[in-house]
This record gives sequence, C-alpha cells and structure tokens, in this order.
Amino acid sequence: KIYVLRYGHRPGRDKRITTHVGLVARAFGAHGFILGDVIDEKVIGSIKKVMERWGGNLYIDAGVDSRKYVLEWKRRGGIVVHLTMYGLHIDDVIDEIRGLNKDILIVVGAEKVPPFFYEVADYNVAIGHQPHSEVAALAVFLDRFYMGKELHLSFPNAKLIIVPSPRGKKVKKIAEEEEGESTKD
Ligand code: SAM
Repeated sequence: KIYVLRYGHRPGRDKRITTHVGLVARAFGAHGFILGDVIDEKVIGSIKKVMERWGGNLYIDAGVDSRKYVLEWKRRGGIVVHLTMYGLHIDDVIDEIRGLNKDILIVVGAEKVPPFFYEVADYNVAIGHQPHSEVAALAVFLDRFYMGKELHLSFPNAKLIIVPSPRGKKVKKIAEEEEGESTKD
C-alpha cells in the first residue's frame, strides 16, 4: 500500500493545495492520506465529499505526530520516500523503489521541511531539480510508479461516473446522492 503524509500544512494558507494533495493521492492510486500534526476539518471534509460522490476508500487521518508516524511506518517494515528537489532524480530510483515491493509512505512538504525527514527517508526523490509544487511532485511520482495505469482506475463505490465525451459533460448516475450534495463539478 501507498500512503501520503502531508507535512507542514498551514490552515491559514494551504487549505486548497493540501486538499489537492489529498485528491491526487486518491485519484492517482494511493491508499491513504495523512495530514501531519494538525487537524483541518475543511480539508478533510472536501476530500471526503469527493469520495462520497466519485468513490474510492482512501484511508484518512489527521493530527498525527508526523515524526512518530514516519518512525512507526519504518518500524513496521515500510519505506519512506520524501519528495524534494534536492533528492535523487526519479529516473534513477523509481525502478528500484517499485522493485522493493514494500509499503511506501510518501512525504510531501509545504514550506521548509526539517532535516529529520531528509535523514529518516529511505529515498529523497526529486521530480526534476527545479522547485515546483507538492501536487505536481506527488502526481508525477505516482504516475511513474504505476507506469500510467492509475489513470485508468475506476472506483467501485462511485455514485457518479463520467462518460468520456469530446465536448460538454456526460455523467452517469449510479446511485442517488445525499440530500444537499451538489453535482456542479
Ligand atoms: N523550498 C521548500 C523546501 O526547501 O523544502 C520546498 C517547498 S515546495 C512549494 C513544497 C513541497 O513540494 C516540497 O516539500 C516537496 O515535497 C515538493 N516539491 C517541490 N518541488 C519538487 C521537486 N522538484 N521534486 C520533488 N518534490 C518537490
């Protein structure tokens, strides 16, 4: 299994981007999303709302101690991959990481990530050596890890399924949505 740990979330300014980290985790085939050190009901609520409508059963937790979580993950035999532009190029390590066949905790930061994570990580992986975004970094890592197959995932408990269309929006309703749920997006 693959879990994503979001480190350094600042509720005042990171709500949208942290929500996107969670949405990418779900859509690109991760199994869990952990919001480290803080509880932000808005972020968690937004991710859950997407899951209610579009399916998936991403495990979600928040407010855990990030450092302890990472150490416990390793103690249980999983590996830790920290995404950072300072790390080793993804092309040089992704086959090795995939080949290990172990549970993976992917750590992504917000602003500055403390040295602890660089040191505790089994792999510090760079999605190229330019600064960009945790959302982009996570998406590319998962895409390379799954070799593109994750974009064909379907979520069995979805209430809505998109019917691909060259123009406009076609959505098939599989089950009724709860009262008050919007079908705007
Ligand atoms: N300047 C910050 C630092 O030194 O850690 C990076 C901030 S960046 C906006 C937020 C997160 O995006 C990083 O913690 C990292 O996880 C991810 N990230 C950004 N660029 C990356 C890259 N080229 N490769 C891998 N991860 C990247």
